[in-house]
Amino acid sequence: MLYTVIVALSLTAGLAALSAFVLVVHSIRREDRRRSLTLSPRGALSSGTRRILGLSVDHTACVIHPEYACPTCLELDTEVRV
Ligand SMILES: [Zn+2]
Repeated sequence: MLYTVIVALSLTAGLAALSAFVLVVHSIRREDRRRSLTLSPRGALSSGTRRILGLSVDHTACVIHPEYACPTCLELDTEVRV
């Protein structure tokens, strides 16, 4: 009986870890395909993946070299000028 419980808990924990890994990989591939890493996260999955991976975007270089700014800063710059 104890072995059955241990095996069931191990399988559950393994399945949970595998599911989390698949979700993180899916989110990474989706953001890469959309080229949306410099944008704000679109949902909880993107936000959680960025938090797990420790991803943050520093826009200091966009301010120093506006000619090489990222799409987000370019969009904000055009909105301010209009
Ligand atoms: Zn930027």
